[in-house]
Formats: sequence, structure tokens, C-alpha cells
Amino acid sequence: MALLELNSISVHYGRIQALHEMSIHVDEGEIVSLIGANGAGKTTTMRAIAGLLGLSAGSIQFDGGDVSKTKAHLRVIRGMSLAPEGRGIFPAMTVLENLDMGAFARKDKSSMDADFARVFDLFPRLKERSKQAGGTLSGGEQQMLAIGRALMAHPKLLLLDEPSMGLAPQFIRQIFRIVKEVNEQGTTVLLVEQNANQALKLAHRAYVLETGHITREGSGAEVAADPAVRAAYLGA
Ligand code: ATP
Repeated sequence: MALLELNSISVHYGRIQALHEMSIHVDEGEIVSLIGANGAGKTTTMRAIAGLLGLSAGSIQFDGGDVSKTKAHLRVIRGMSLAPEGRGIFPAMTVLENLDMGAFARKDKSSMDADFARVFDLFPRLKERSKQAGGTLSGGEQQMLAIGRALMAHPKLLLLDEPSMGLAPQFIRQIFRIVKEVNEQGTTVLLVEQNANQALKLAHRAYVLETGHITREGSGAEVAADPAVRAAYLGA
């Protein structure tokens, strides 16, 4: 069953059209990767799903309802949360306070301790640094904090915008391993990545986005085997 459905959505920045009647869906339990070059519209897609950008056409269905006009914080309450590109953590707040902010929309505060434990279990580094200001963490640690914060909302759908961006290889491997683990624990994931190789390996299904158009879709393996994809994104 589709948890998320984008039905022919278009997004404009003024007169510039960034997304052209784009349709994708994410089924419950899946990891879906959206790959594409710089400027293809990946971040725009994530921001539109999260409610940070309005649609000029089309609609977004989430968990059985139309959320096209739903405010961003209410989309969090309905069960989606975004770990934004460039991390977007609160630098002056401690790790613990950052994680706490992620839980703002929760109705059920009683299970929060369990979620703190889960995040610290996934990211032991964050536990060690829980009293440190977010801004003093390394890039990789800030990325972990952004993901941890998104998980504190206890989302049905986790939206990850380029979690591997700017990270050293050992952090990249770790982030992808954790995404897999989070998914196995029951969270559906939409992952946007320029790191196509890893993103396609991880994905149940994948889409290729080129200048605001979806040009290919299939299982992660099918998309990775496509000669045009290999030439453009996998350096083959
Ligand atoms: P990147 O990997 O660089 O983040 P992306 O695939 O996420 O790329 P977007 O950031 O979504 O791409 O940008 C899609 C298109 O929209 C690009 O042509 C970009 O120049 C344009 N764009 C993005 N933000 C704005 C803005 N605030 N105003 C005008 N145009 C924008």
C-alpha cells in the first residue's frame, strides 16, 4: 500500500519550474531512492513533500489523506519527518536539546525515553556527546544528529536529503547501514542521494530525476543495471 504518493506535482520558483508533473510513490516498508545530478530537483522534491514549498499543480497523498495544503508541522504530526540537506541542526543547542526538538510534535511523550535509547543505540557517538553543543560536532556527527532528530518524531516516513553529502567514506558506510537498520525496524524511507551507487544498493525501488522530470524507475538493481544510469551516475 502506498504510504506516500506524489501525483503529477509541479513546483515553481517564481517563473522557473523546478519540478514537472512529477509522480512517484513510496509503499509502506520500502526504502525508495531518488537519484539525480546537482540541480535536478531532489531537494525541491523533499521540501515539497515536507510542506516547506507549495505546489503549483498536482497533489500529495500521505497515509490515506491529501496533505497538499497541510502545513509543515502538521505533516510531522501526521507522521513524516525530514532530515534536511546540509544538516540544519541547531548549533548552539546541545545534542540532547536538538533531539528533544525533534520530538515536538509527539502526542505520546511516554515512549520518548525508548526513542532516545534507540537513537543512542544507533548512534553511540551522540550519546558520548549528548551535552556538547551541536555546532561543535564534526560534519558526520552533525549528520547523525539530523537523522536522530528526525527519528525522535517517531515518523512513519523518514525523508533523508543527501545524508552522505560531504562525509568521509567510513561515515558514509555507517549512515547507509543505519538507514537500513531503521528501515528494518519498521520505518519507511525516502532517500535522496547523489551517491547513486550506495543509494541504489540499499533501495527496494528507485527513481532517476533529471531537470525536474522522472526519467527512470525500477528496482534498485534494475536502475543500477541501466546503461544510461551507469554512464551518468555510476561512473561506468
Ligand atoms: P543539489 O544536489 O544541488 O541540492 P537538487 O537536485 O537538490 O540539487 P534543487 O536544489 O531541488 O536540486 O534545485 C532544482 C532547481 O531549482 C535548480 O535548477 C535550482 O537552480 C532551482 N532552485 C532551487 N532553489 C531555488 C530558489 N530558491 N530560487 C530559484 N531557483 C531555485
